[in-house]
Amino acid sequence: MTPTCTLVILGASGDLTERLLLPGIGSLLEREPDRALRIVGSDRVEMSDAQFAELLVRALIAGGAAEQVAHRIADDAAYVCADVTDSDGLREVLGQAQGCVIRPRSSGRRAHQEVPDGGGHLVLYFALPPAVTERACAALQEVELPDRTHLAMEKPFGRDEASARALNERVATLVPESQVHRVDHFLGKSTVLDVIALRFANRLFQAVWSAEHIESIEIAYDESLALEGRAGYYDHAGALRDMIQSHLLQVLALVAMEPPARITDRDLRDATAAVLRATRLWGGGPETASRRARYTAGSIGDRQVPAYVDEPGVDPERETETLAQVTVEVANPRWAGIPITLRSGKALGATHKHVVITFADVRHLPDGLTGPDPQDQLVIGLSPDVMELRITTNGTSDPLALEQSVFTTSLREAELEAYGEVLAGILDGDPMLTVRGDAAEECWRICDDVLAAWKDGRVPMEEYPAGSAVPSAWGAALD
Ligand code: NDP
Repeated sequence: MTPTCTLVILGASGDLTERLLLPGIGSLLEREPDRALRIVGSDRVEMSDAQFAELLVRALIAGGAAEQVAHRIADDAAYVCADVTDSDGLREVLGQAQGCVIRPRSSGRRAHQEVPDGGGHLVLYFALPPAVTERACAALQEVELPDRTHLAMEKPFGRDEASARALNERVATLVPESQVHRVDHFLGKSTVLDVIALRFANRLFQAVWSAEHIESIEIAYDESLALEGRAGYYDHAGALRDMIQSHLLQVLALVAMEPPARITDRDLRDATAAVLRATRLWGGGPETASRRARYTAGSIGDRQVPAYVDEPGVDPERETETLAQVTVEVANPRWAGIPITLRSGKALGATHKHVVITFADVRHLPDGLTGPDPQDQLVIGLSPDVMELRITTNGTSDPLALEQSVFTTSLREAELEAYGEVLAGILDGDPMLTVRGDAAEECWRICDDVLAAWKDGRVPMEEYPAGSAVPSAWGAALD
């Protein structure tokens, strides 16, 4: 049995905790029913231990945990009502988690308190609104943290490059970077992780993975879901912040990174951070590199969808985009000159969630073969988990006329949901599948100029009817 990890959830009665975090742990407990874990919840709402235990059982079972396992965890759990932006409140929560009195911090230096338990590590999970997380981190500076404290921080990490840097500086006064886990659940998606095996364990692809052979890359996450009552969050975020700034740039980093010698947290995160540092907007500026649009009324299947601006809770003055596209270049010897397009949108008719690698044409097509020569493409599905290799073959009616054949395979089904995969690392104290501080700052740096240009109206807001395809002028890789 591994030492008991204590997971302290700040924001324990919130949406993320019930819908994603606890079910993620439930799926982990389905795979590892004996995992030694104690959960302490905290929020500002009054709740008894019994009510929290009920919430735990419900959400852990929803994620796949067996009933008796969920009850074992719930019986050992505790709940503390506290304002986590207040250092006294935080000391009370941590004291409950560690079974001791937590001291105020005596100086500005990072200092840790030895705790009697001697067990595994403590994870402080910030399932809080971002502004509250920032204030909770400030309050933690007045708390002598227990030994082996890890911090799990939800997205978004900061609001722009400067605020992400400031938050990183504050977090660095609390625990070492190796004990900070910035959560991006895309890093736990099995198909995203498949990119690593595909690139580095197949000579076929390893040999052609560069600007020499690849003409363009598209990383897209187009959804048919519309707003679905989430205006409170989405109208302040929009497609660029919600998907591209975090998830899709992480996928880009894995697709474009240099081969690491080992798959360890340090090697992998060094390699992905180097890609992000080398990434800049295509064509030099946001006006040429980005597009934005908002859906108008339409229908998706048999569902009538109102225009985004007429959705309850939306303020049209905010000019929030529901479809965003940013084209970047990774300016290094492997990728310079290759456009890499990141796109995500809501209320679309065709749901493309994929990485499309489009290969360059052969240098010389033998005379006698009749074109056109269809473009060869590798499509890595991000959902559903399928992979397609679209290659050029001889025609069926005329063997010298070229046509495209598609090899399709379903990828193995992941044992764990993406959140479960990321949580497994956090609970084990392994930061590999979470985002390092410098990478979080780089993701904002790449997007900040685009956000500024959109705010100033330098990039027009386009429109598309709900249920339609991505506008054809945007040049999507697949129909
Ligand atoms: P919620 O508002 O649903 O939950 C946050 C919880 O924190 C609420 O219960 C809130 O209480 C509580 N809280 C707020 N201030 C304090 C305080 N000072 N002291 C103690 N508790 C406090 O937010 P979400 O769960 O949706 O989001 C949490 C984080 O997860 C955010 O960073 C979000 O961006 C991120 N995230 C959320 C996703 C989701 O699908 N929900 C997906 C991915 C990331 P009260 O209700 O009283 O305000």
